Amino acid sequence: MSTAAKYQPSEKEQAFLDSVTNGKYDRQIVTGLKKFVDGKVPEDMLSFYSADELKVLTDLKGTVNDVEARMPVKMTRHYFELAKNSTPLQVLVKASPKETYDLDGAPDPGKQMDYSPVEGLIHKYELGLIYVASTCSAHCRFCYREELIARKEVERPDGTVAPKGLAQISEIVAYVKEHNRVVAENGGKHPQTGREKLREILMSGGDPMVLSNKNIGAWLSALAEVGVENIRIGTKELGFYPDRFDDTFFDMMDKFHEIYPGVSVRIMIHFNHPDEFLKKDADGNYMDDLEGGLQWVDSTRQAVRKLRSRNWLNVDNQAPIIRGINNDADALRIQQRELKRNGVENHYYFCGRDIIGHKAFNVPIEEAWHILNESQKGLSGVETHARLSITHYKGKTEVAAVTNDPLPGVPGGENGFVIMKLLRGAADAPDRGKVTILGRNPDAIWFSGYNDRVLYDEAGLFEGVAEQSIPLHEVVGG
Ligand code: SF4
Repeated sequence: MSTAAKYQPSEKEQAFLDSVTNGKYDRQIVTGLKKFVDGKVPEDMLSFYSADELKVLTDLKGTVNDVEARMPVKMTRHYFELAKNSTPLQVLVKASPKETYDLDGAPDPGKQMDYSPVEGLIHKYELGLIYVASTCSAHCRFCYREELIARKEVERPDGTVAPKGLAQISEIVAYVKEHNRVVAENGGKHPQTGREKLREILMSGGDPMVLSNKNIGAWLSALAEVGVENIRIGTKELGFYPDRFDDTFFDMMDKFHEIYPGVSVRIMIHFNHPDEFLKKDADGNYMDDLEGGLQWVDSTRQAVRKLRSRNWLNVDNQAPIIRGINNDADALRIQQRELKRNGVENHYYFCGRDIIGHKAFNVPIEEAWHILNESQKGLSGVETHARLSITHYKGKTEVAAVTNDPLPGVPGGENGFVIMKLLRGAADAPDRGKVTILGRNPDAIWFSGYNDRVLYDEAGLFEGVAEQSIPLHEVVGG
């Protein structure tokens, strides 16, 4: 339990919060495999798992390979309705014994605890990420926050071990205030960390949209009061339960904008596959929309239109490329085209993180690059803004290119190269743009797959771990 002092909203915040109404939602969530085993799900959901599948999963219960201990099972009625007719969506929410065949992975992917000065806050760059909820309306099996959602114990830099906690408004506000005060007094840079003003906060979790409007509003107004200029809300609710974007939510957001017009808000959505938002006919095909493009699921389109009708709200999609879900260039092409056409920016596609059990989900890095590259062939420039990103603990890194031809005279690059570019050094902005060049390894699903073939590492992604590092200029005589 947090010992944080209770946050005292200002009069202005309180007036805003008093005007907010909470909505009522009926997500019809099914939680846990036991409900399927005991036949306690609605009749039409009974066949979502076969008897054989349930038997195998039940036999793993209580063992080190317990699939639900790795990641709890959860699904909404809305997602079930979509998944009924979609294998990729079934893979996204259905537990599989394959998840725990190989439990290799990092207990704290991205070494987030190294960047956590306050419980529930990850401070990288000029951006802070706060955990405001520890669940979502449904759970993706590949979740890269499985340690938070499954309440796993994580080691902190001081050696203590405890589950990751949620952010508390009073603590976050105090941290932002103090960080920004020190930065302002030191000419725009923090004297110890070199970081700039904390001007952007990403509300994450779990999914902030499982909170009530009043809770979301309390975060928004507190962050606005302390001088945060941009607030992002990371959510998959448009996929899991689009009805959450109801009139009470927009009423709250409109009031927030009225009171804090200078604060921009970005809704960072998470569609993995177009089956999550497009209608399909009886043969499983997407259907043309007479107004142009393809037909959307009504509630999803309505929510996106309401979001986009507010010019102070931006909507960006980002999603990992996961085996069996969206390692499919055609699906990603349709997704990018339809999202952009409906006012949603294509921000990032990610390589899956090195979570515990990641080998069940991750597509090899070079394959992911190839899929995204193929998917963008034939799209227009504005539809192809998404880059392939892989999150190194040093910072967000773009997988910028994969070549096929060798560079004559460069050992280790006989099969071509992978070029990675650091987009943001977590601690130090000037690292942006630095490059790492690797000899290809089509099987690599994480950085470690390149430890023995680092050719040039200006970005420092392999500092201290590369088995062989040949400065490229020495080889080619630069
Ligand atoms: S929506 Fe995000 S946080 Fe929630 S289960 Fe899926 S990947 Fe995890």
